[in-house]
Amino acid sequence: MKDLAIVLGIRPDVIRASKILKLLDNQNQIEFDFIWSGQHYSENMKDIFFNQLDVPKPNFEFSVNKSNDSTIVSSTIENLFNHFENHSYKAAVFLGDTNTVMGSIAAAQHNIPVVHIEGCMRSYDWRMPEEKYRTIIDHLSDRIYAYLESYKLQGLNEGISENVIKVTGNPIVDIINENLQLFESSAQYLDDKVLDLSNDNFVLVTCHRRENILNKDSFKNIISLLNSIDDRNIIFPMGYKTQEILNNSDMSLNDNIEIIDPIGYLEFMHLLIKSDFVATDSGTVVEEACILNVPSVQMRYSTERPEVYDVKASIKFDPTVNHANIIETIDKVSKLKKGWKNPFGEGNSSEIIVNDLIELSNSDSFRRHMPSDYPFDTSRSFKE
Ligand code: UDP
Repeated sequence: MKDLAIVLGIRPDVIRASKILKLLDNQNQIEFDFIWSGQHYSENMKDIFFNQLDVPKPNFEFSVNKSNDSTIVSSTIENLFNHFENHSYKAAVFLGDTNTVMGSIAAAQHNIPVVHIEGCMRSYDWRMPEEKYRTIIDHLSDRIYAYLESYKLQGLNEGISENVIKVTGNPIVDIINENLQLFESSAQYLDDKVLDLSNDNFVLVTCHRRENILNKDSFKNIISLLNSIDDRNIIFPMGYKTQEILNNSDMSLNDNIEIIDPIGYLEFMHLLIKSDFVATDSGTVVEEACILNVPSVQMRYSTERPEVYDVKASIKFDPTVNHANIIETIDKVSKLKKGWKNPFGEGNSSEIIVNDLIELSNSDSFRRHMPSDYPFDTSRSFKE
């Protein structure tokens, strides 16, 4: 039996967990397998992040049926279930709120304790599949790493027991602290055109959330916001789904907006640091901007990261409503005063998480609510 299965599957997972994986790889107290669900699979949505951040490669890589969310989730559950039939672990570790974390159902079916990194975040927006996923995995979990005390409180309010939740700080702070110099010197990875644009003032944009791009009115409002910025360049690394939807619509972006394919982490962070501000609907990018003292417009109706508003690092742009005075958002973000305090932690979160995982593995005490005289071995799968 190995101690841990670490299950990840999308771009920001590799980035956020990169130090956790390296720390686990460099210790010899516990053994783990790193399993890639296959949710993201292309060079510039997956491999480039392993290479740039020198992340240990997965021991197991699954591929999923990508027809739709249900097939991604069901094939992840099936792949993990079959894997757990032949490989025993003391716990299975998941991160975030994606289709991949629904693989925790397979761990639950094998009665393997579930660990959730990024637990107890809530947007209280029940339209979002992510909100449903994170609620489900938190309530399945035997151990939750919540980034902030306020997130822990949200978990307690839902009846999750206090001893399940450990507050750790947000590991994205660790990644930024450790790689800051690399980000600053990463211009060479940008192609000439982007490099040229980024020599003047520019705005960086990302937009991929389904509630924004699959809702025509919301997407239109976002396009109007971006088209209202006419005094500088905009660099927009655009996800493939967003490209497809834009190309199949009657909407268009102004000529000062440069659309490029998604780029690597070092070049993205280089652009972020140099930008006047970022307009984004990404959960991670808004944290990164806040930590790096870059103002942001959060193009979202709701957020599970309200701290960026609390410290006045971000302006909300609600894509669900028509804005009579759309340029007001740009005025407001230009007036944000830099120098706010980073609300996301000290930069030692990966270490806290890894030390706790080692301690719980060594004492074999992941499991909650499990009487010691439990009458049968629940680790075997049951077939009728
Ligand atoms: N990112 C990147 N290249 C890009 C766009 C984003 O490396 O072209 C990084 C970004 O710095 C952040 C992460 O990818 O760390 C965000 O991913 P995404 O917005 O897809 O996911 P979310 O955070 O919303 O789950």
